[in-house]
Amino acid sequence: MKQRVVVIGGGFGGLAAANRLAAKGHQVTLFEKRDKLGGRGYQYEINGFKFDGGPTVMTIPPLFDEIFAAAGKDRRDYFELVPLDPYYRIFSPDGEAFDYRAKEEDALAEVARWSPKDVEGYRKLLTQSERIFDRFYADTDRPYLHLRDMAAIMPPMISLRAFMGAYPFVSRYIKDDFLRRVFSYHPLLIGGSPLTTPAIYMLITKVERKWGVHYALGGTGAVVAGLGRLLEEQGARIHLATEVVEIIVQNRRATGVRLADGTLVEADEVVCNGDVAFAYRHLIPAEQRHVFTNRRIDRMQYSMSLFVIYFGTRRRYLDSKLAHHNVILNHRYKGLLKDIFSHRGLPEDFSLYLHMPTKTDPSIAPEGCESFYVLSPVSTLDSGVNWRTEARPYRDRIMQFLEDNYLPDLQANLVAEHWIDPLHFQNTLNSYRGAAFGLQPSLFQSGALRPHNRSEEFPNLYFVGAGTHPGAGVPAVLSSGKIAAELIDPSPSPD
Ligand SMILES: Cc1cc2nc3c(=O)[nH]c(=O)nc-3n(C[C@H](O)[C@H](O)[C@H](O)COP(=O)(O)OP(=O)(O)OC[C@H]3O[C@@H](n4cnc5c(N)ncnc54)[C@H](O)[C@@H]3O)c2cc1C
Repeated sequence: MKQRVVVIGGGFGGLAAANRLAAKGHQVTLFEKRDKLGGRGYQYEINGFKFDGGPTVMTIPPLFDEIFAAAGKDRRDYFELVPLDPYYRIFSPDGEAFDYRAKEEDALAEVARWSPKDVEGYRKLLTQSERIFDRFYADTDRPYLHLRDMAAIMPPMISLRAFMGAYPFVSRYIKDDFLRRVFSYHPLLIGGSPLTTPAIYMLITKVERKWGVHYALGGTGAVVAGLGRLLEEQGARIHLATEVVEIIVQNRRATGVRLADGTLVEADEVVCNGDVAFAYRHLIPAEQRHVFTNRRIDRMQYSMSLFVIYFGTRRRYLDSKLAHHNVILNHRYKGLLKDIFSHRGLPEDFSLYLHMPTKTDPSIAPEGCESFYVLSPVSTLDSGVNWRTEARPYRDRIMQFLEDNYLPDLQANLVAEHWIDPLHFQNTLNSYRGAAFGLQPSLFQSGALRPHNRSEEFPNLYFVGAGTHPGAGVPAVLSSGKIAAELIDPSPSPD
């Protein structure tokens, strides 16, 4: 039976769910608070530059392909993904570069160049990461709705030591401390500390090796535009700049949503792509909630936040030592991570991710110009940092560091700039405490212990996106959209 489905939020999770449900003929209406789709993948357009707001590393193209195939379309008619090599260039605190290469033999050669004694250990690490992938990857594609679902995964968790923190796990195989950091930073890509995030999430490293690390020509914004176009072609209604302020609940069922202008929209099924904690806390009255009480929401552990500066220069920097994706590690590692995840204010130092997409795709900047974004992990708003006064000096420190070490004369050549801080995540993206990736991917917030894709409270309310199973990152939230769509309508796709 065709259902009236309301989707709250046009991030990747919402777009995946909406497209899959529209492909099955359901009447889908999507409400997005911002003036454009994408959520974290919003694309800013400033002075002729296109800056991707968030995700830049695209993995598992088949997850996108499936969405288009379900609608009888070919993804390549909507956007193009090109593979990158190296995946990442990681700079030591002294500015020396390590290339995280695509082919295994190139990666081993790079390890040998840096630390010959670690070649054998790296081989073993690859094998162990592959075992984790082989055992757990399929779980990212199916719902975890009951605690009993966890029973089957506990024995392999233990035998593969996948419960260990990523950094201690990697340290069992790798001796060089810089390489330990290089091979264990992946949890940061999904909002967790490498020191504590269970090594089960190291399956991401195998995901990269299996499907590659890609860039979308035109930027991630082209992917968002493609998913939006597909949704329109399927007859779904998209309402931008329209905030949902309440999920209406009657007799333990979601009956629709109330918009900021007071309009009531009825629905048979509601899919929420807004942050889970924020949605339960602010969109559903407290007296209706028995599982996600305010107390429980307050006690959950949230990911770190981010400070991101998008900037364009009127000159190119092709002579710099930078690759497309760069990670710049700081002298302090464990101490800095502890500062960030224990909310100890704003440290003086930082580690950075520096994106230089014009290295691959000059079309996203005016001719002769270079486009960048630089990202620094910071605490959530729990740290008490006053970003209204601290953002500018923090921005200045990061830009000066880049000018001194990587991009000569940077500040004299700036022609476009914008930055976001934890307040953006809280106020613009409706994310609880300004967390950039929703809930932390901790052992006790994974699988069935993470908020479910079908609400534990209201059987026709579904959650997709970073705060729910299987977690943060574009591939994971696309999977959450698939899981929710299949829970709503398990019939096979028309094609
Ligand atoms: C700076 C940054 C870099 C990242 N880099 C990568 C990367 O390279 N690769 C990768 O895979 N992942 C990356 N991630 C993580 C990834 O971007 C996210 O996990 C993922 O995009 C989140 O998708 P989502 O479905 O949870 O939706 P979100 O992106 O969180 O979007 C939710 C949408 O819902 C809307 N919304 C919320 N509440 C309401 C409401 N009440 N009414 C209407 N609309 C509402 C919001 O405006 C938003 O548009 C990055 C994240 C950030 C922040």
